[in-house]
Amino acid sequence: MEDFLQNLPKIELHAHLHGSLCIRSIHELGLQLYGDKTPKYVELSKKLTEFDQTDNLKKCFHRFTFMHELTSSSKGLELATELVIRDFARDKVIYLELRSTPRCFADMSRRDYLKVLVETIESAQKAHNIIVKLLISIDRSQPTEVAGEIVTLAEEIKKKYPNIVKGLDLSGDPFQGTFKSLHPLLKKSKDANFSLALHCAEIDTVKEAQEMLDFGFQRCGHGTFLNEEQLLQCVKQNITIECCLTSNIKCATVKSYDSHHFPNIFRNTQCRVVLCSDDCGIFDTTLTQEFLKAHKFYQLSKNDIHRLSMNAIEASFADDQEKALIKQKVMEYFRESSDNS
Ligand SMILES: [Zn+2]
Repeated sequence: MEDFLQNLPKIELHAHLHGSLCIRSIHELGLQLYGDKTPKYVELSKKLTEFDQTDNLKKCFHRFTFMHELTSSSKGLELATELVIRDFARDKVIYLELRSTPRCFADMSRRDYLKVLVETIESAQKAHNIIVKLLISIDRSQPTEVAGEIVTLAEEIKKKYPNIVKGLDLSGDPFQGTFKSLHPLLKKSKDANFSLALHCAEIDTVKEAQEMLDFGFQRCGHGTFLNEEQLLQCVKQNITIECCLTSNIKCATVKSYDSHHFPNIFRNTQCRVVLCSDDCGIFDTTLTQEFLKAHKFYQLSKNDIHRLSMNAIEASFADDQEKALIKQKVMEYFRESSDNS
């Protein structure tokens, strides 16, 4: 099964740019940015060795701040994006939706940040033979003015790159900010035909999850605390649930693999569900590993994996032609592997 999953053409729908860079690639990024044996690179390597030796989540998250440092120039951002796309392609991901919150620095505006991302995506998808789309993230802890600026920029850049910029993501610390305060902005985006992938019911906030479901969106990040009625509502509204096993366990929003909500949604409801990696760099995983875990803990068969792959294609924000192409590749793989077994 390991080989089968490793070589399976995969579809990744929930991946944050900064969290997806693994330690090895951060090393590469540092090396390309600072050069070998420079004091900055030596310092970076020392810090990375410390991260490597710990499983402590706080330290893992500290890597985020650290990554932000490395990507605070357009060169750093470009290299990081390229490396992340390359790593997904190496894991046999053939279709990737990357999310990122536009940031600004002394010599880079949020508009510049987005420009670097889309231009790098354009070149990297050709170089690594992978289809990549961008979801622009709003961090729920940000002030509404910043979220407003991001929504306006998102509309602007989507007009210019309609085949790359596909949707909006709402993410960030679920204990901060409210959906309510961002409601008018998200409504504006919805009216401008943005697809929405929102982190929802990541923690036990039934009321907010209900507000979000009533508002309506396409994809629900995590959906850990959706109750039965809400899951039925997802079915009715055709909302797909993005399950990220390792992320939920390491962040402790789910106690154990045995009590994870994925098998119940997958086996016992009509909800469309997909497996995703979330922050594979931070949580030291890959999409292949996520499938392997699901196979190990929930006895996924090849038929189940086929169903999950089809779910992901269906739920993706790709256009119909791209969906047909991805589907063909996946079907071919399943056909070939059944001929060989
Ligand atoms: Zn996420």
